[in-house]
Amino acid sequence: MSLLIKDLYANVEETPILKGVNLEIPKGEVHAIMGPNGSGKSTLSKVIAGHEDYEVKGGSVTLDGEDIMEMGVDERSREGVFLAFQYPAEVPGVSNANFIRAALQARLPEGEEIDAVAYYKNLYSKMDVLEMDRKFTGRAVNEGFSGGEKKRNEILQMMMLEPKYCIMDETDSGLDIDALKIVAKGVNAMRSPDRGFLVITHYQRLLDYIQPDHVHVMHDGQIVKSGGKELALELEESGYDFLKEGQLANA
Ligand code: ADP
Ligand code: MG
Ligand code: MG
Repeated sequence: MSLLIKDLYANVEETPILKGVNLEIPKGEVHAIMGPNGSGKSTLSKVIAGHEDYEVKGGSVTLDGEDIMEMGVDERSREGVFLAFQYPAEVPGVSNANFIRAALQARLPEGEEIDAVAYYKNLYSKMDVLEMDRKFTGRAVNEGFSGGEKKRNEILQMMMLEPKYCIMDETDSGLDIDALKIVAKGVNAMRSPDRGFLVITHYQRLLDYIQPDHVHVMHDGQIVKSGGKELALELEESGYDFLKEGQLANA
């Protein structure tokens, strides 16, 4: 059981961005992707989620053996892929509690209703992990949220939807160390043999708190190097200079 990306090619407005990405994320593992700006990390996450701006030119993405390439964003999300950031930045007039409840309701079979008491119990217990104020449930989605609140809200959505595969793109950007620790606590609470994670980050710091099983380096639309969690520390030390032309063979 895995999220399997095979020889994936994708363009943005005729420009090739992904140039043959191969990556397998088995359930139970946390994989990190690092790499310089512009290497295609966000593009990869959006192509997996089914974002419409990207034209897939070749290859495949399968979820536990099922091809998801022909599915739309919503269907992929119901099948169990969660991309933090895939949800609208702001949803005026819709409270956080109702937004998450509607997303959960959409995953239930016809005619089945969410039990409100159980729902709030679950919601509050997860908000406690993330040290979120109860008042938060009544506020409109992301309206007037600080950067840190938005990130926590994403993790809350993720914890409530319980996806099989979680993709986090730069979840650490703009977070102070306390918020980072809380986000990591939420993610670590979700780690399970039944769930895989793809954690994309430009900096090593997040990986001190969410310890990856494997680290990959993306460069110019490909995974060019893979290793264990020590690779993240090496990159922090030495930077990405080794990616400059001609040096990769010695890296
Ligand atoms: P990373 O996340 O590694 O910084 P991105 O995937 O965001 O890299 O970007 C890879 C390349 O694709 C960059 O050159 C970027 O300008 C381009 N790109 C990504 N998305 C778009 C888009 N929607 N429109 C035009 N160019 C894009
Ligand atoms: Mg990016
Ligand atoms: Mg492994």
